[in-house]
Amino acid sequence: MKILLKNAKILTFNASDEILEHADLLINGRKIEKIGNKIEELPDKVIDCTDKLVMPGLVNSHLHSDENMFRGLFDNLPLEPWMLYSCPPLMYGPFSERLIYLRTMIGAMEMVRKGITCIQDDVSECPKATLGGYNQVFQAYKDIGLKGNIAVNMGDRKYMDKLPYTREFIPEKYHEQLSSQPEQEEMFALYEEVIKRWDKKDGMKVVFSTSAPQRCTDEYLMRALDMAEKYDLPMHTHILETRMQRVTGAEFYGKSIVRHIKELGFLTDRLTIIHGVWMDERDMGLIADAGAYVAHNPVSNLKLGSGIMPLRKMVKNRVNVVLGTDGMSSNDGYSIFETMKFAALLQKVMDSDYRTWLDAKAIMKLAVTAPAGSLRRKAETGGLETGKDADICIINLKSEAFTPFNDVYNHLVYCEDGSDVETVIAAGQILMEDRKLLNVDEKAMIEELQGMTGEFKERYKRTAEENSILMPSVDQIYKKCVKQTEEYTCNLFV
Ligand SMILES: [Zn+2]
Repeated sequence: MKILLKNAKILTFNASDEILEHADLLINGRKIEKIGNKIEELPDKVIDCTDKLVMPGLVNSHLHSDENMFRGLFDNLPLEPWMLYSCPPLMYGPFSERLIYLRTMIGAMEMVRKGITCIQDDVSECPKATLGGYNQVFQAYKDIGLKGNIAVNMGDRKYMDKLPYTREFIPEKYHEQLSSQPEQEEMFALYEEVIKRWDKKDGMKVVFSTSAPQRCTDEYLMRALDMAEKYDLPMHTHILETRMQRVTGAEFYGKSIVRHIKELGFLTDRLTIIHGVWMDERDMGLIADAGAYVAHNPVSNLKLGSGIMPLRKMVKNRVNVVLGTDGMSSNDGYSIFETMKFAALLQKVMDSDYRTWLDAKAIMKLAVTAPAGSLRRKAETGGLETGKDADICIINLKSEAFTPFNDVYNHLVYCEDGSDVETVIAAGQILMEDRKLLNVDEKAMIEELQGMTGEFKERYKRTAEENSILMPSVDQIYKKCVKQTEEYTCNLFV
């Protein structure tokens, strides 16, 4: 199928960041065949782009679709106490495959509506991951037409060994319940199955997620790296999101978690590190030297009170930064427009040297060009150029957000919230046209999921009650860690 986009303002994000006026773009199958003025072709379909902006689709480099049932549920909890409710260690799950499908789809629909064409979803399944559940996640993204990098988030440490000071603060009577040991062989066997079924098929890629280094044994981390190298998978892990994780590094390894994985040989260019809020410049240098990536999730970091990632310091230290929303329970939405705005604004309050603040175009690149490497999709995505996949969003410029029209990048970062995205194309397939989702019945999906919400809530309520018995202990661990890291607030953020 050939689709011709006619008479557009085209923001290419190519090597010279060209902006073309009254230009055409020809899509042939999944690829961009030509970009230029007055392309004379007889395509199967023409989209008139007069008064519209054609730009690359946005990438959400980090989310957790398993949290999609938690939109609007939590407030005023920092990460570790919050995880008692968002990833409960006691009870919870398993969920029906249909619920997993619909839960994934509700997030996918929102992302298409907001101009996203490719996602990196780090999915945890409670009480443990199953092939049936993961098939539903992949299937939902395939059905809507999004390009998906999907991770099976697992670790082989028991809860008692994931956090510092558990034996000091958690009453002994709970230790056994919190000591169920995930089975390494079973987890790697599941990964083999998921890879066989989905990797590099139907626009999907499997990502190896190790959740966070302190939630895994070193042996597990290195086995994960072996598997990622064998199948050429990207890797995902959470590092130094919170003050508590800074203490965890010192307690578990006698050093920063970044330095630990570097010495282990785990820090490579296939790794995307999520968060990095509490990194020092030495950590950043190691990440830059390895060619690894850091996914910045500013909204989630604010909602959980984790802190503000030192974005400009990362960039100054040559770290590849990409943007993500993080999961629905620490963000409540999947908007990369909102994420770009927060990233742009937060970096300004870190210091007064305004000449070094990243401009709106540089911020956009964190969601458009930089993710191609994190996704390990450099040949196919990261800008509008011939030979690359047609991953495109078309934006209406006759709207309040673009009136009066000034700097296009400023409008996109500071004014647009996604509501002017009219048409979205991923790998040459139209997913939304004139704000109508073409591949799924949006209304039916929402109604069916709403119909299942009562039962989910009832079950979840019991889980939350069960897990709240651990709250006083986790709270004490949290307080002890925060006290130890007070000095970092002034040491790191300069
Ligand atoms: Zn995350």
